[in-house]
Amino acid sequence: AENGGEVDDDRGENGGFKMPEIRYTKLFIDGRFVDAVSGKTLESRDPRTGDVIASVAEGNKEDVYLAVRAAREAFDHGKWPRMSGSERGRVMLKYAELVEHHADELAALESLDAGKPLAVTRVVDVGNSLHSLRYFAGAADKIHGETLKMSRQLQGYTLREPVGVAGLIVPWNFPAIMFFSKVSPALAAGCTMVVKPAEQTPLSALFLAHLAKQAGIPDGVINVVTGFGPTAGAAIASHMDVDVVAFTGSTEVGRLIMEASARSNLKTVALELGGKSPLIIFDDADLDKAVELAINGNFFNKGEACITGSRVFVQEGIYDRFEQKLADNMKNWVVGDPFDPRVNQGPQVDKAQYEKVLRYIEHGKTEGATVLTGGKPCGKKGYYIEPTIFTNVKDDMIIAKEEIFGPVMCLMKFKTVEEAIGRANDTRYGLAAGVVTRDIDVANRMARSIRAGVVWVNCYFALDSSCPFGGRKMSGFGKDDSMHALDKFLAVKAVVTPVHCSPWF
Ligand code: NAD
Repeated sequence: AENGGEVDDDRGENGGFKMPEIRYTKLFIDGRFVDAVSGKTLESRDPRTGDVIASVAEGNKEDVYLAVRAAREAFDHGKWPRMSGSERGRVMLKYAELVEHHADELAALESLDAGKPLAVTRVVDVGNSLHSLRYFAGAADKIHGETLKMSRQLQGYTLREPVGVAGLIVPWNFPAIMFFSKVSPALAAGCTMVVKPAEQTPLSALFLAHLAKQAGIPDGVINVVTGFGPTAGAAIASHMDVDVVAFTGSTEVGRLIMEASARSNLKTVALELGGKSPLIIFDDADLDKAVELAINGNFFNKGEACITGSRVFVQEGIYDRFEQKLADNMKNWVVGDPFDPRVNQGPQVDKAQYEKVLRYIEHGKTEGATVLTGGKPCGKKGYYIEPTIFTNVKDDMIIAKEEIFGPVMCLMKFKTVEEAIGRANDTRYGLAAGVVTRDIDVANRMARSIRAGVVWVNCYFALDSSCPFGGRKMSGFGKDDSMHALDKFLAVKAVVTPVHCSPWF
């Protein structure tokens, strides 16, 4: 990092940017901002300093029950599920317009709450949120069943109906993007919903709930309950009147959500969980491009992404040059205040994640891996960690096996395509993978051999609302983005009638 990894504190508290005003801190239930029944609040903290930004209502089981009741009423008797798809799409486009109008405020809120560089948040987080809303606004009138050619004199067709009340439990690493990755398809399908943002980053979801109301989304369709996972989150997962839970977060909590579904009403579950994705670089790769992909694939969003390519396998012929160039290029990577436009990497989201990542770095050192860059915290306050690259990493080391969810890259050498396939798949996860090569046959073979939800060839982090996203194995199941994302929010119903008058059979 610039200045040998030290955070430059001379840029002023806020890097010269105007801090966003925090206007919404209460639960959003049935179209109104309300206090938690218990009156309790939780503190959202600034990851740059650890200081409290805002006290936000701490929703609990009682609040989830009120939110589910509002969502149920809006589903059973409200107009949202009964509007035509194109009408819903029009309201969603209005919602997108309002989000775009407030893009700067949303980006600033997101940067403040989650520690993301503002320049990136404005483009990536707000940009993807808008794309998601508009994609699914367009999808709302393209949901249809099929006609069935049945045997005997029977006529069949299918209806795809909104499944009911959706519980949407999302994490803190991309709060707005995660909000829309669940809310947009749920809205398009005609569901009503209770959203639980992560306790670390509750602010953007409340702001977005306010904009939804302004856009004309009826009361009770989107409810937001801020609160902790084991209380508010668990109450959603075990609620008898929630029909589907769509979750993004850790594999451990994904398991708890499935258990809660099994013990309650067998609600549908869709899980987008952790990963330990391989990024595989072959001898014939464009070296500059490969280094750039490895850096962004690991340190974008300070490594707080389920899809980071944290196991970087480099073929032996290019390995030494790759390692050298990687170390050289990291000298231009700037860690610091996310409101400073020069900064590439902000602080980790909170103290718990900061300490967890530092523990993994210590594991790496004690297990015998070599620190190529970074390896320690930086800055005088807040949760900053130097981007850390380990070499001499063995596949069975903890740092090569477990999801770290921070700026830590494991660099490893390989010889053959077969070896790369075997080691890439030697993980309990199956979320994403990257392949860098100019050989189309190698690229195709790798793409077909790696067991993951997405394989990026000569790119990384290439996400789009039109592209299905979601893992296999212990990375979960069910897709976000693309028309597949609608499936979990739709029930397929078959309708069959006898036909006595057909001239054809
Ligand atoms: P988490 O899984 O605990 O939290 C994600 C969401 O689930 C939050 O909204 C949380 O409040 C909620 N939750 C927690 N416990 C719950 C429960 N018992 N029932 C229902 N909901 C519950 O994730 P975390 O603790 O914030 O992070 C831990 C690890 O999870 C990270 O280090 C990382 O490995 C992984 N993670 C993955 C993603 C991803 O995008 N796949 C995102 C965030 C975190």
